[in-house]
Amino acid sequence: MPDHQQHILLVGAGLAGSLLSIYLARRGYAVDVYERRPDMRLAHMSAGRSINLALSKRGIHALDEVGLLDAIMDIAIPMRGRMIHGENSSLTFQPYGKDDSEVIYSVSRGDLNRKLMDLAESHTHVRIHFQQRCDGMDFAKRAVHFTDEETGASYMRSEDTVIATDGAGSPVRQSMEATPRFNFSQEFLEHGYKELSIPPGRDGGFQLEKHALHIWPRHSFMLIALPNPDGSFTCTLFLQQEGDPGFSSLDTPAGVRAFFEREFPDALALMPTLEDDFFSNPTGALGTIRCFPWHVGDAAALLGDACHAVVPFYGQGMNCAFEDCTVLNECLDEFGTDWHRVFAAYQERRKINADAIADLALENFIEMRDRVADPHFLLMKKVGLVLEEKFPEYFIPKYSMVTFHRTPYAVARRRGQIQQEILEELTRGIEKIEDVHFALAEQRISTRLRPYTEEAGSLR
Ligand SMILES: Cc1cc2nc3c(=O)[nH]c(=O)nc-3n(C[C@H](O)[C@H](O)[C@H](O)COP(=O)(O)OP(=O)(O)OC[C@H]3O[C@@H](n4cnc5c(N)ncnc54)[C@H](O)[C@@H]3O)c2cc1C
Repeated sequence: MPDHQQHILLVGAGLAGSLLSIYLARRGYAVDVYERRPDMRLAHMSAGRSINLALSKRGIHALDEVGLLDAIMDIAIPMRGRMIHGENSSLTFQPYGKDDSEVIYSVSRGDLNRKLMDLAESHTHVRIHFQQRCDGMDFAKRAVHFTDEETGASYMRSEDTVIATDGAGSPVRQSMEATPRFNFSQEFLEHGYKELSIPPGRDGGFQLEKHALHIWPRHSFMLIALPNPDGSFTCTLFLQQEGDPGFSSLDTPAGVRAFFEREFPDALALMPTLEDDFFSNPTGALGTIRCFPWHVGDAAALLGDACHAVVPFYGQGMNCAFEDCTVLNECLDEFGTDWHRVFAAYQERRKINADAIADLALENFIEMRDRVADPHFLLMKKVGLVLEEKFPEYFIPKYSMVTFHRTPYAVARRRGQIQQEILEELTRGIEKIEDVHFALAEQRISTRLRPYTEEAGSLR
């Protein structure tokens, strides 16, 4: 418990901000969270539009720490692997992990956020103030500027310390950009995304395999679909913004239909509202944000997308933001109320890993849209799982280190690169797993990889 009840101001009651407020309340802090949007628990939700996220180990760990895991698992759908929809409408299932304990979960973003807010507000010292837009921060005065979105009134708040969980467009980060020697970069992909939907079947059931993340890989673009508890799927089309095909050239309902008929005929057959969805849902941009430092003394720090927005192709943005909360909490265990040391340690432990997941996510885009349908890639995936079975102390597939373990992302990336080289050597010129030279595998693994546990505990 802190010596006196310190007040913390959080900006943003999204996924990370709501979770962090619970961690802090459990430590005895008084937390005020200022959120730009209206309370989503009261606001009318448009019928049928449901957006979901893949939850995995790091997010699960954090939810467990704050006591919310069981409630989330009640509304989560396990996805055991990728279901690849080939160009000839063929189906290939690729398990994600070594067995059914290694799955990822499809969870509604809205329901998760609502449950986090409910639990946050069940702590008497957490207050969420809705429709309060942060306009920036004056770090010398520790003052955060707000506008009340209902009344238009501007005002200022200052608390002992401020943590900005205000997402990729963070106004607090923008204020940091004006401080000396602040590094910032934002890189957009040529691709954007659009959410579409597959409704439940007439009997209310799932029209595609329920326990899979569906992918229609088409080399330079792709469609994916994740299941929702009501029997529907939320689909996301990732496509270049410009060019043909591109969002800019898909500008008529007939053009959209023709594109889906050509590229995704099996999905189109299940999408009765395709044209309406396509033209009523926005086209989102995809980018990577990196910055440094992540804090200004003990006055303020950034957390989640505010300091490290990543492209969504590893399904890790939220999981990484939740892990930020876990690590900040560990730093509070170590350094108590010395916020300067807490923020400095949190930044040191997380920055290197946030950079690594940003790179991994960019690399995985090519894998998802282009390589998952390639038989050689499938062989390498299978060999990777067999190597894990044979050499569990050394070889854990990269996807598993990122998704089913809390291996620091930087370690997962470095070991993943070495493992990839080993897999390429072992599968060169062969087509079947029986032809793998396992003695060579053992030799390469023992000379090139340190035991997993020696490295995985570092950097966190
Ligand atoms: C298409 C897509 C798919 C994704 N899929 C996955 C996935 O499968 N798995 C995964 O782990 N991650 C996924 N992500 C990433 C994930 O959505 C983000 O990493 C996560 O939402 C980050 O949480 P956050 O709380 O930091 O930011 P946000 O969730 O963006 O929350 C920020 C909050 O701050 C509020 N806010 C913003 N500006 C202000 C202001 N000026 N004043 C006050 N409040 C403000 C916002 O209203 C919001 O409530 C995906 C992202 C995209 C775009």
